[in-house]
Amino acid sequence: MGTVLIIGAGGVGRVVAFKCAQHRDVFKEIILASRTKKKCDKIAADVKEKLGGKKIKTAKVDADFPEQTIKIIEKYNPDIVINVALPYQDLAIMDACLATKTHYLDTANYEPKEEAKFEYSWQWAYQNKFKKAGIMAVLGCGFDPGVTQVFTARAAKHHFDEMHYLDIVDCNGGDHGKAFATNFNPEINIREITQRGKYWQDGQWVETEPFEHKKMIDYPNIGKRASYLLYHEELESLVKHFPTIKRARFWMTFGEEYLTHLRVIQNIGMARIDPVRFKGKDIIPLQFLKAVLPDPGSLGDNYSGETSIGCRIKGIKDGKEKTYYIYNNCSHQKAFEETGAQGVSYTTGVPAMLGAKLVLEKKWTGKGVFNVEQLDPDPFLDKLGEYGLAWHEKVNVKLGMD
Ligand code: NDP
Repeated sequence: MGTVLIIGAGGVGRVVAFKCAQHRDVFKEIILASRTKKKCDKIAADVKEKLGGKKIKTAKVDADFPEQTIKIIEKYNPDIVINVALPYQDLAIMDACLATKTHYLDTANYEPKEEAKFEYSWQWAYQNKFKKAGIMAVLGCGFDPGVTQVFTARAAKHHFDEMHYLDIVDCNGGDHGKAFATNFNPEINIREITQRGKYWQDGQWVETEPFEHKKMIDYPNIGKRASYLLYHEELESLVKHFPTIKRARFWMTFGEEYLTHLRVIQNIGMARIDPVRFKGKDIIPLQFLKAVLPDPGSLGDNYSGETSIGCRIKGIKDGKEKTYYIYNNCSHQKAFEETGAQGVSYTTGVPAMLGAKLVLEKKWTGKGVFNVEQLDPDPFLDKLGEYGLAWHEKVNVKLGMD
């Protein structure tokens, strides 16, 4: 039915490649391109060994340069590009898609390299250009952002007349046995969590110090874990598209050991993203740190435990107060056995493949730039469990989020 170009050969790229290769009826041709071609070749070889079938083609691309991506698109003529490189490349890859009239999907919103600031304004500014070109961009189709918005869209469509309080709760209850490691790209991860926090309350953003708000949250099959309020990008689009929401917050678990390491990293200046002169060369401390930390892609072996991510929502249905909780738990070990990647890469890669599949099947259609909550949640949730991420919902239970 179609051809897909995947850009980025990290943990998430690996999962997307495996999942696309499991759906050859839709993804007839798969091309995996990244900055380091040998990482693409390794993934292609692993897919071939495990699943057989037609070999994934690989290519080298520096996606910071649209002309390089355009060249690959012109060579292979994909129907959609799945961008699982880094958020820095989003706009350059969107430019290449515009130039070639190719659909686009990513899992994280654009961030400029020189400033740890994520907001949708840059990508929303492409709305008219994508519309005019007659193509679709699906933004943030991983787990969070991604499935959390599909979950919220399901709540709005099937469970509430008005949603008032939304808490997105993200727990990694896994243990990789390392003193300190991040579950996805360390540079992006540390930039995200060391920022000031922010949540939506009564029509405006309320800023917090990093890690200022802590709550013990009970996660299914994991138990109570210390969770901290963070700003997360999907809050911006969710409060825009569901204006009845009075309060929207995002919580993520961190262990004491992790927070201690993070404090030290910050205190000694290793989280800095401004250039520092070292032996006659400019280096960015956080990029250097990334080079010495464990590669998130290598964490899968011996990674035990589960992730649990979901949405806890309170609102009104038929004039009565209602609570609703929808979530997925994902086992690191099962993810690793299937794809060679740990659960955080898996929970991101499965939705990216599924979103792209729905676009190719024309179950998600439209011209312009879309956040996933603007698209129909039903065909997505019909398949999410079957493709590896079973979800569960509970109605009128105690949310534990007051
Ligand atoms: P990794 O760092 O493991 O992989 C990133 C890949 O992108 C690497 O192969 C890297 O190449 C490649 N890359 C970097 N720069 C370029 C470039 N200029 N041109 C081409 N390729 C490039 O990251 P992850 O796989 O962990 O994460 C991938 C994306 O997924 C990130 O954007 C991350 O923010 C997002 N994510 C989203 C989540 C969600 O739930 N929505 C959760 C987790 C991640 P090289 O090997 O040469 O460095």
